[in-house]
Amino acid sequence: MGITLSRYEAWGKTVERVPLLGPVVGPIWLELVPALLTSLMVQGVSGTVKQIGAQWWGIPPPPRPKSLPAAPATCEVSPAVENHEVPEDTVVVTKPTDDSCKNIVIIGGSVTGIAATLKIRFGCPLPANYRVIIIEKHTHMHYMFAFPRASVIPGFENELFVPYDRLFTTPAEGAVVHASATKLTHTHVELDRHVPGFGTKIPYEYLIYGAGARHPKPGCLSDEITKDDGINVLKGFQEKIVKSTKVLIIGGGAVGLELAAEIKEHYPEKTVTLVHSRPQYLQSYKYGLHEKSYAILNKFGVNQILGDRVVLPEGGFKDDGKMTITCTKQGREIESDLQILCTGMTPNSGLLAGLSPKSINPESKYVRIKDTMQIDDDEFPNIFAAGDVTDSTDIKTGVSAFAHAHLAIDNVVRMINGLAEGKERKDIELVHKDPVMPQILLYLGSSQGVAQVAHNKFLYTASSWFVRKFFSYNVNAGRAWEWANMPLTEATVNL
Ligand SMILES: Cc1cc2nc3c(=O)[nH]c(=O)nc-3n(C[C@H](O)[C@H](O)[C@H](O)COP(=O)(O)OP(=O)(O)OC[C@H]3O[C@@H](n4cnc5c(N)ncnc54)[C@H](O)[C@@H]3O)c2cc1C
Repeated sequence: MGITLSRYEAWGKTVERVPLLGPVVGPIWLELVPALLTSLMVQGVSGTVKQIGAQWWGIPPPPRPKSLPAAPATCEVSPAVENHEVPEDTVVVTKPTDDSCKNIVIIGGSVTGIAATLKIRFGCPLPANYRVIIIEKHTHMHYMFAFPRASVIPGFENELFVPYDRLFTTPAEGAVVHASATKLTHTHVELDRHVPGFGTKIPYEYLIYGAGARHPKPGCLSDEITKDDGINVLKGFQEKIVKSTKVLIIGGGAVGLELAAEIKEHYPEKTVTLVHSRPQYLQSYKYGLHEKSYAILNKFGVNQILGDRVVLPEGGFKDDGKMTITCTKQGREIESDLQILCTGMTPNSGLLAGLSPKSINPESKYVRIKDTMQIDDDEFPNIFAAGDVTDSTDIKTGVSAFAHAHLAIDNVVRMINGLAEGKERKDIELVHKDPVMPQILLYLGSSQGVAQVAHNKFLYTASSWFVRKFFSYNVNAGRAWEWANMPLTEATVNL
C-alpha cells in the first residue's frame, strides 16, 4: 500500500523485535517512568499522587451517579426531538432535502459516519452546494464500547443508543437517512424503502463506504434496528447471566476479556471459563498487554485456557440454559449452562462487492484500499472506504475508524476543490495514510484494566493505575452523545 514509516516508527519497530529492548516487553519498572510522566502531564502532581494512592489502597473509582444531569438551558430538547419516533415502514430524514445540492453519501452512521461529520464541522468545511447524506439502518448510533459491561450490569443500557436527530445542525450540512442500502450503482445508492425527497435511490458524487463488520452478540447488535431492540438484547444477556452458574466464553479478544472480568467481578460465585485459540491474548498488541490481562483475570478467578479451540456444536449452541459439555480440539471437556461467542468479525462488504468486485479481498472479504482511502479499483476514484470494513493493517478500532474517516473526507474535499479549480484528477494532491498506532484501553471490571498508548511515536502498555483515570460506569458513553451533538441528560437519555 506504499505506507511510509517515519524514522521513529521504523526504529521503534526494530527495537521491539529485539528481546528485552522494546519499551514495553519488560517488567513494570520499564513502564513506570513513561507512565508516570504521562500521568503527570495529563493530571498534574496532585492527580497523580491521588491516583497512585487509589491504586495502592484499592480505593474504588467514583460510583454511578444517581441521576444524569438536567438538560442545560442552552440545549433544550425541541418537541420534534422529544417526540422521536421511528415507525418501521417510514424513514426519518432529519433535514429537508435540496435538489441543487450534490451528495457525499456515507454508508454507515457509526464511527465512520460520525467522524467524517465531525471533521467537516471542525476542520474541513464542505464546498458550497455539497452536503453529506449518511445512510444508516439503525435508528440510533450504537455505542458498542460499553456493550460487554451492559450485558452484565443493568441500569444504563439506554445511554448506549444515541439519537441522530441533532448530528447535523443545518440543512446545508446534511441528513441522516434511516434505511438499509441494498444496491450500489455508478451513480446511486438504492434503498430498502421509500424516502421522502429521494424515493428509493440517493444519487452520489462521492461515496464513503463505512459499513463496518458483524460480530456475535452481545459485542455487536447488527440486526437490532431500534433503541428498544438493542436494550432488550442487552437485558436478555443480563438475565441469562444471572440464571447461569457456569459460563463459557469463547474468544479472548477485547470483548471476551471484558465480559469474563465483568461477570466474575459481579458474580464471583459463578464459574467463568475463557477459551482463546492462540497462546496469547490481544496478539496484535504488545506482549505486556497479554501478561497484564492474564494476571488480572487470574485474580478474578477466571479459568483461562489458551492455545486451544472450542469445537462448536453443529447448528450452534442451544441457548436453553441447560448444563452441557463442550469439547475442545485438544480434548478438554468444559461444563457450562451459558455459552457466549466472542469470536471474529465478518466485514459488511457485500454491497460494495456488487459494484466493484475487484476491490474486495477474495479471501478475507475486506475492502482493499489505496493509501488515500480510495477503494483499490481505478474505475471508482470517487469511492472511498473507511473503518472496520477495510483491508488494512490498522487494528480494527474506533481510533482507526476515526483516522480513516478523517482522511477520506479530507481527500473528498480536496478532489472537489481541485476539480473546481480546473485541475486534472491525477494532478490533485491527496493526503496519504500513515499506519494508525495500535492503541487500546480495556476495562476489566470496575477497577481494573490494561492499556496500550502511544507517546512520542512509542507504544507503552500500562495497567489499572493508568486506566483507572479514564473509568466511568458507562465506559464514557457521554462522549458519543457529544459526537452526535446532543448532551446526555435526564431529558435526552430515552430519546
Ligand atoms: C464490544 C466492542 C467494544 C469495542 N470497544 C472499543 C473501544 O473501547 N475503543 C475503540 O477504539 N474501539 C472499540 N471497538 C471497535 C470499534 O467499535 C469499531 O472499530 C468501530 O465501531 C468501527 O466503526 P465503523 O464505522 O467502521 O463500523 P461499525 O461500527 O461496524 O458501523 C458500521 C455501520 O454501518 C451500518 N450499516 C452496515 N451496512 C449497512 C447498510 N447496507 N445500510 C445501512 N447501514 C449499514 C451498520 O448498521 C453500522 O451502524 C469495540 C468493538 C466492539 C464490538
